[in-house]
Amino acid sequence: METAIEQMRLSRSEHAHKHDPLVGALLVSKDGRELGKTYRGSLRVGSHAEYILIERLLKDKNLEGAALYVTLEPCTGGAWRVWPFNLAFLFCPTKPPV
Ligand SMILES: [Zn+2]
Repeated sequence: METAIEQMRLSRSEHAHKHDPLVGALLVSKDGRELGKTYRGSLRVGSHAEYILIERLLKDKNLEGAALYVTLEPCTGGAWRVWPFNLAFLFCPTKPPV
């Protein structure tokens, strides 16, 4: 989770007059290898971390049994995008870390 929090700190709010959630994400294989990490807005302003990580950066990888760490509970759209990849675990804090 610390790595996901480090990624979260790289996020930037895309609105000048409204706070956007800062989110970091990390994916770990079932044998403990780091598969990828990213943060909200890393590819495009406003894009969600779980979407970037799973559908853009790792879309051609076998993610079965992997664990996703995110610093904020995935949104409904993100949760549906994660679902087909057969991850084993989703870890997120009960409240945002900062
Ligand atoms: Zn999302």
